[in-house]
Amino acid sequence: MTKQEYITVSEALEIILAGIPILSTEYVPLLEALGRVLAEPVTAHDSLPPFPNSSMDGYALRAADTTNATPDSPVELHVIGDIAAGAVMTTELRQGEAARIMTGAPMPPGADAVIPVEDTNEPWRGKERPLPPYIQIHRSVKPNDYIRHIGEDIEAGQTVLQAGHALRPQEVGILASLGVHQIPVIRRPKVGVLATGDELIPVTAPLEPGKIRNSNGYTQIAQVLALGGIPISLGIARDTETDVRTKLQAGLDASVDLFVSSAGVSLGAYDVVKAVLEHEGNVAFWRVRMRPGKPLAYGKYGGIPYLGLPGNPVSAMVSFERFARAAILKMAGHTKLDRPQITVTLQDDINSDGRESYIRAIVERQGENYLGTTTGGQGSHMMTSLVKANALLIVPEGKKFIAAGEKLTAWMLDWPERVF
Ligand code: AMP
Ligand code: MG
Repeated sequence: MTKQEYITVSEALEIILAGIPILSTEYVPLLEALGRVLAEPVTAHDSLPPFPNSSMDGYALRAADTTNATPDSPVELHVIGDIAAGAVMTTELRQGEAARIMTGAPMPPGADAVIPVEDTNEPWRGKERPLPPYIQIHRSVKPNDYIRHIGEDIEAGQTVLQAGHALRPQEVGILASLGVHQIPVIRRPKVGVLATGDELIPVTAPLEPGKIRNSNGYTQIAQVLALGGIPISLGIARDTETDVRTKLQAGLDASVDLFVSSAGVSLGAYDVVKAVLEHEGNVAFWRVRMRPGKPLAYGKYGGIPYLGLPGNPVSAMVSFERFARAAILKMAGHTKLDRPQITVTLQDDINSDGRESYIRAIVERQGENYLGTTTGGQGSHMMTSLVKANALLIVPEGKKFIAAGEKLTAWMLDWPERVF
């Protein structure tokens, strides 16, 4: 990597993603595959449905027998069987005969249609519903009516899901219906999360003068979890190269796929993360024209990609959102690495400094339009404005002022029902 200074957000993203591999494949039980990306295509060994079956509760019959049926002059058929879901009737149905059939039960031989129970005189509607000896049919049906055919949904041999498909509950359902229960997926990225700083104390410790709790560690572990990654907490490193190295070694020992640390990457006298990377790994870049979050180091440590986020909690979270998120999703095999983005009308003026800025905002729907309102206090230590926000408004590089009424792109952090 060549050392580059002060690059744009998209240049930084390009450099990071170029160094991020897609991880190896593992086989996991069906439910563990949820949210993961398929590593190989899945081919159906069975057809779906696997046999012709009824789509209604009713009577299986021969359509030709119903030609002249009306409510006033019904056709009466002899009921010769009762086919519950899961049962199989092998007797062939002949002219003038019907078999009661439940939704999903297999069609009996000889039958070519089903009449829904609503279109019969089904006399026993109580709980017991004993099988009537005769049934009156109130209308005609055509051959194939209310029959679900073999392979109508999926044919045996067909590729049902392609490699690269991200698995949602509906894909889990299809795999289950095909009997595929060990699923080849890309393994979950292991992300080592390190907080650095002499001022940091664990969340369980009482506050002391000059100290603050390590919130970044928790935010980033939560961000890793929310993306389906496996966080490896590397704790808090003091502002010494030795301690940072010791904590990173624990990450190497745990075979992390990515390091994410916070703080220690700017120009302060104790900013040792960058020094460790420079001395023992390499640094591809360490400043990005982004706001919040100018100091952002990317390089490798022990051959593992390393993202050194800024220390300020908002900068850390937003930089993670923009860069670490894409890296983790890419590792896990995803191809859609950005959040959904929509165009919104800005509700208040925004001043910027020419860097690509990510402004905390609430996006709401008003009729056909989306409105974006900033959530106040944009200081990079102000966590409450992030808590209020559901989006980050992107002020493009080079812009120093955006007036209320102008359009901006919103990077949607979430899409709460109450707003849309
Ligand atoms: P630094 O990058 O070390 O100059 O840190 C920038 C700011 O982020 C300082 O105010 C730090 O106290 C704060 N900070 C650094 N690490 C954390 C952390 N893990 N949790 C909360 N705040 C932090
Ligand atoms: Mg510091």
